[in-house]
Amino acid sequence: MDMKVVIVAKTRMGSGACIGALTFEGRSVRLIAADRDTNDQFNQEYAVGDVWEVTCEPDPDSIAPHVENVIVTAKRKLPPLSGLYAFVMRHMSPKVGGPEILFDGLTGITSAGALYVAERIGVPSYSTMFWRPDQALQRDLHGKRIRYRYPTPDGGRTVTLVGYQEPPHEIAAGTLLRVSLAHWWRPVEMPDGELRCYVQLSGWIEPSESSFPVIEVEQPASLPSQIGRKPLEVLQDVFGYDAFRPNQDAIIDHVLSRRDALVIMPTGGGKSLCYQLPALIFERLTVVVSPLIALMQDQVDQLRAWGIAATFLNSTLTHNEYMATVCAIRNGEITLLYVAPETLLRPETLVMLEEVAPACLAIDEAHCISQWGHDFRPEYRQLIDVRRRLPHAVCIALTATATPRVRDDIKASLDFADEQTFVASFDRPNLFIEVVDKGNAAQQAAEFVAAHRAQSGIVYCSTIRQVESVVDTLQFHGINALPYHGKLDAATRKRNQAAFVRDDEPVIVATIAFGMGIDKPDVRWILHVDLPQNIEHYYQQIGRAGRDGLRADCRLLFSFGDVQTIQYFIREGAESEAQGRTQRLSALVDWAQSRVCRRRALLTYFGKAAPVDHCGMCDNCTHTVDDLVDLTVPAQKFLACVYRTRQQFGASHIIAVLRGSRSQKVLQRGHDQLSTYGIGMEYSAEQWKQIAHQLVGEELLRRDMQHGQLLLTERGTTVLTGKQSFFGVDPGVTQAERMAEEIAADYDAALFEQLRACRKILADERNVPPYVIMSDRALQEMATYFPHSEMALLHIHGIGKHKVAEFGDVFLPIIRTYCVENGLSERPKTGGSATRRTKRRFVGSRSDVVGQAYEAGWSIDELRAEYGVKRQTIVNHLARYIAAGNKLPARQLIEESELSAETQTAVFNAFDELGTSALSPVFTHFDGQISYDELHLLRVVHNLRKATDLA
Ligand code: ADP
Ligand code: ZN
Repeated sequence: MDMKVVIVAKTRMGSGACIGALTFEGRSVRLIAADRDTNDQFNQEYAVGDVWEVTCEPDPDSIAPHVENVIVTAKRKLPPLSGLYAFVMRHMSPKVGGPEILFDGLTGITSAGALYVAERIGVPSYSTMFWRPDQALQRDLHGKRIRYRYPTPDGGRTVTLVGYQEPPHEIAAGTLLRVSLAHWWRPVEMPDGELRCYVQLSGWIEPSESSFPVIEVEQPASLPSQIGRKPLEVLQDVFGYDAFRPNQDAIIDHVLSRRDALVIMPTGGGKSLCYQLPALIFERLTVVVSPLIALMQDQVDQLRAWGIAATFLNSTLTHNEYMATVCAIRNGEITLLYVAPETLLRPETLVMLEEVAPACLAIDEAHCISQWGHDFRPEYRQLIDVRRRLPHAVCIALTATATPRVRDDIKASLDFADEQTFVASFDRPNLFIEVVDKGNAAQQAAEFVAAHRAQSGIVYCSTIRQVESVVDTLQFHGINALPYHGKLDAATRKRNQAAFVRDDEPVIVATIAFGMGIDKPDVRWILHVDLPQNIEHYYQQIGRAGRDGLRADCRLLFSFGDVQTIQYFIREGAESEAQGRTQRLSALVDWAQSRVCRRRALLTYFGKAAPVDHCGMCDNCTHTVDDLVDLTVPAQKFLACVYRTRQQFGASHIIAVLRGSRSQKVLQRGHDQLSTYGIGMEYSAEQWKQIAHQLVGEELLRRDMQHGQLLLTERGTTVLTGKQSFFGVDPGVTQAERMAEEIAADYDAALFEQLRACRKILADERNVPPYVIMSDRALQEMATYFPHSEMALLHIHGIGKHKVAEFGDVFLPIIRTYCVENGLSERPKTGGSATRRTKRRFVGSRSDVVGQAYEAGWSIDELRAEYGVKRQTIVNHLARYIAAGNKLPARQLIEESELSAETQTAVFNAFDELGTSALSPVFTHFDGQISYDELHLLRVVHNLRKATDLA
């Protein structure tokens, strides 16, 4: 049978849509694709208002009242109709009135108001009709689906919306509604209940020519035009940043001069700015291709918060949103358009872009083009053609990939020359990197997380079981960590990820699947409780921390047990891969055990030169450079206990003895009778473990490879007998605590918390993640400089004019009130923080910088505050500075001492007599009356004088 039909309803956007049509004779039909079982694109081609000529046959499976189904075997599109509303009015005139007239008055209602037709009442001979309600219908979002409620004194009658149209709050009285009966349904909880067809709303037609209600795209924020301005001015005015990050200015200049560029920068390096800023200066659109659909909304929100007209096109948009967006692009209202590759490749998108002629095409995550990458996407290959079709657009491709093979592949595929390639340093200087022995991983995680209270962070685990165990332990300690792994359903994963991004819950415990597509700039720490498989994975995962440039703490728990587990899986895996995987694993193991600067070793692994020998931001650097304290006494206790137990036990037994354990193992061996039994109560078992680790690391003890017992070395014996002292990291403070202290020292934490709470409210109101409103760094600076005016606020990191206008009124009063209450006043922020001033002027290792700064007139206290470390640390730096052959003014140093001149002389005499290699003899000599702080200081002066005397 051939017939001409007009499409009047479509209940889903994409494929599989349910299509309602009217024949020119006024009969209602539902079009079913003959090939729907084999074709997953079926019914996509119809649009409401279309006219089609179809060849069809009745559906043999139709059950009353759904007798309108027809199976379409062939079809042809005809020119569209000009007045759909008029057509329906003429061919199938609607019923007018209240819901009681629907379906011949056969409808019943549930207690919630839902309309239905019950089988036992007798069903109508048709399942679709048109209705013009005499009162407006109100949208109701309370249930699982959107419903519209027709008002009645007893609470109303409701119909579920199944149409694809944008649901307004209210559908006006007199609108032409299409209603249909749903499938037969019997609630599961009522096996004996009646069969019902519920009434649904499958679309409406406005009395205008168009059947699409036009929806407004959110008005792009009004930023004054930046076209033709200088990049640095735009950076400061719009983005609110003081200066470019390394390479950004060169890349931006390059792009602005319309030369293509390939940008290779680590995660957090600031890639986005390389196309976002030129986009503002160009006169026409910039198109950004990105595979990360889930991120687009956040990226666009972030840009809009800066006042930038940004938007996106991808498969998540409704038809109307899509049309409105396209319209805004054509009208030149958009500066930055994010688009998914598959959307970009659609013919209509390409045609539109050809017309609009964008100024710039940015290809984000460009490694997706490479088959060698971990993330190959076939659509990316076709971007080569897109580039050709948009010949006037300068192209910038960006990636954080580190492997040379993938880089070369991108270069070759997109045809970039060497001089167009910018490779930024892969160093992430703000990440503090450390490796710690693994014990009870979940317990260690709890301690670590507790030391980072209220900071966002990720715990990475290698198994789902580990995720569960860590989550349980954290929750036991009152930390509401959320799990993320492959066995959770997609909705839960999505929800947990959103809660993390939006700062509802700061801690996520995940398998490595988590992180792709996380763009949260303020992740403050990463904890690996299990060993990753290789350095590549590890570096990628820690790369997710500290994208905002503030310090972030990365800790890896290391154990040989994990190494064996991975080895086992390598042996079980593909033989062809075993060799490579083993090599990569052993590189990681070497790295984890090494005592050289972690950062330098990582960069060396990636074929990059490290900027300095000692970064001062890894455990190996800080353990040797910072915070060394005299641990001679505890070391002697431990070594003595090793000796007394005949060098036959591992660390945990030694610790049990030191801490006076009543365990069977201790009692059975009579170790409670030893002189070293119970002499180590001043440290916890965990702290003793740290000390033991240092004793092994510094070769005072050696671990027997076969049986694991600890053996004294020659060096150990000299310390045990008091011939040498031992300096190490104070086990009283863990690295995490030190770090928390360091950060806390810098800004007013109470004000920060107030600002943070306010930010969270603003973010929730706007339904965006908090960092879109303000970065942590901005809040920290506010809590440091206490800006009182809009002018002062403009100097805060990441705050441009737009943000001042939007949020100044909210944040400034909080700061002012806080200052009044606490007697604080505004502090000037002029051209960067003091830290940056120091670093700019003084170069070299941390000791060099400290030494030079001291020479230039900084006091020890100022330096201590500057770096947020102990006084003794600064003194140690100065000592090292002098030991390296530099001179410092002894007079200035001695003024730092609080001792009387007499006592000072006595100390110097004691140094002459007892030597300066160890402080403890001098300490004992004065019966502990003179603090180690003073002794450290005076030793520096003493050595300095000696050096000057000799000269
Ligand atoms: P990537 O894409 O390279 O991982 P992003 O572009 O997301 O990094 O940038 C990371 C963070 O650094 C963002 O919060 C961004 O706003 C910020 N940023 C970028 N450039 C600068 C700059 N010049 N000064 C200060 N912050 C910057
Ligand atoms: Zn280092």
